Amino acid sequence: MKRVLITGAAGFLGSHLCDRFIAEGFQVEAMDNLITGDLKNLAHLQDCPHFTFHQHDVTEYINIDGHLDHILHFASPASPIDYLKIPIQTLKVGSLGVHNCLGLAKHKGARITIASTSEIYGDPQVHPQHEEYFGHVNTIGPRGVYDEAKRFQESITMAYHRYHGLETRIVRIFNTYGPRMRLNDGRALPAFIGQALRGEDLTVFGDGRQTRSFCYVDDLVEGIYRLHFSDETRPVNVGNPDEITIGEFAEEIIALTGTDQKVVYKPLPENDPKQRRPDITRAKEILGWAPAIERAEGLKRTYAYFQTLTPEELNKSEHKDFQVFKRS
Ligand code: UDP
Repeated sequence: MKRVLITGAAGFLGSHLCDRFIAEGFQVEAMDNLITGDLKNLAHLQDCPHFTFHQHDVTEYINIDGHLDHILHFASPASPIDYLKIPIQTLKVGSLGVHNCLGLAKHKGARITIASTSEIYGDPQVHPQHEEYFGHVNTIGPRGVYDEAKRFQESITMAYHRYHGLETRIVRIFNTYGPRMRLNDGRALPAFIGQALRGEDLTVFGDGRQTRSFCYVDDLVEGIYRLHFSDETRPVNVGNPDEITIGEFAEEIIALTGTDQKVVYKPLPENDPKQRRPDITRAKEILGWAPAIERAEGLKRTYAYFQTLTPEELNKSEHKDFQVFKRS
């Protein structure tokens, strides 16, 4: 049986990847230190005979007995609020963590996909963002810990590919949403839906004219799966080019949830990108991939998930008492 190690397995994307690899007939070794992940996301797999969970911090030496065919390195804090709260762990998982994963891949002869991000483009001056664009990142800004860790991660991955001939894949993930997003991770979609469900006003940062392009998680997982099993070693953008302003997005959530709350405006976090939209030409040409799920449908499914949360989960709003959005 082919064996895959998925790091960050208890997170939003990691848990969906576990589901996909189980469904495809793999033995899944799931790893997470649970710093931002939640075992609830994997609870449905706990009795599966082909699934094992390892609570481990990948910045420490990773030991997996037996053969290993594939690795997907998805461990990382991934929302602005997380990497402002735990900046050093964010830097470590994208540097020491990926180094351990690459070393493990080399030792086992495994193919490895690493999760990169649209954040490597920073506050982009090219629109939409294609893979040849080098980006516009503030190394010392509050988001720099995430952006630079991910940029380093791409560099060391290419070095292992070029120097050791390792089979590597790099996916640049754009904004993604869906069931199992953490309600309180501070990102726009869970923030807005949580606010609607609690009967609070929706907090739009800045004037709401900044844009993002949101991809439904099932589409993203399909793109990642195809990339991992392709021959492409250059980075590939995977995301949905359907771009929307954050102000319009908040209005869509108001319409979806039927809340009678309104939008209130808060200061824009430092270095918040003004626009973001993937150019997915490469993914289309090489993987034959394009997103299939419209935002209206994806949002419906995501809202249905958030409606299943208990009142305790709904009210545990950890980001409220954490003042991350002050300007320096
Ligand atoms: N945002 C917002 N209100 C919130 C949370 C986020 O207006 O309660 C904005 C945020 O400033 C950014 C956009 O929504 O412009 C997307 O933010 P998110 O944190 O979801 O992702 P990222 O900035 O990493 O794309």
